[in-house]
Parts: sequence; structure tokens; C-alpha cells
Amino acid sequence: MIVFCDQRFAICPRCGAWAAMRPIVFGYPSPELMAAADRGSVALGGCVMHGEDPTHQCTACGQDVILDSVEEDA
Ligand SMILES: [Zn+2]
Repeated sequence: MIVFCDQRFAICPRCGAWAAMRPIVFGYPSPELMAAADRGSVALGGCVMHGEDPTHQCTACGQDVILDSVEEDA
């Protein structure tokens, strides 16, 4: 059982909501990963990375974001 604990809260650059950002997982999805995606715990980014890929997806509006570039209120 894979546990994804990388979900973070941040201000979405698109919708401006303080929203949960679910991690985008790249690579061929395992059955556990598919199940997690079905639950909405993660987003699947596909098998190919391009170098400037988003790291998270806003659960409020679905926008892909690069969370390191998003200002966080730690
Ligand atoms: Zn958003």
C-alpha cells in the first residue's frame, strides 16, 4: 500500500483559492497509483516528463501548478 503524504495546501495561482494541491505522479501508474488517482489523492501526469512539469494540481479548479513557484504560508 502506497501512502501519498505529499498533498499540500497553497494558494492557487489560477483561482486564488487556498486549496489542497494533490501531487502529480509521473511514470507508468501501478494499481495502487490508479486507485489513489480514483480517490482523488493524486493526479496522474503521464509517462513522459518535459522538464517544466507541474508538480501538483489544484483540487478546487484542476489547474496544474508548479508548487515550488507558489507562495506558501508556512
Ligand atoms: Zn485553483
